[in-house]
Amino acid sequence: MAKVRVDKTLCIGCGACWALAPSVFEEDPESYKSRIKEPYRKTDSDDESTGEIPDNLLDDAKKAAEGCPTGAISVEE
Ligand code: SF4
Repeated sequence: MAKVRVDKTLCIGCGACWALAPSVFEEDPESYKSRIKEPYRKTDSDDESTGEIPDNLLDDAKKAAEGCPTGAISVEE
């Protein structure tokens, strides 16, 4: 398991993360910014910006973090 986080104050809604890791990220229809997809959101909070992903999605999440133009995504193994 790895922890992923989207800093919505940095996100500009460019869409790179949900293109590179569509299993992990999606567009929030209200803010047009990125959020963690529902299965991986932390269950103990309403925060859509943090989550935990299984190891098989780690490479995709790292690619999204590298591809994010504003450095809004962090991945912690
Ligand atoms: S790649 Fe970064 S800036 Fe673009 S939508 Fe995802 S988190 Fe936001």
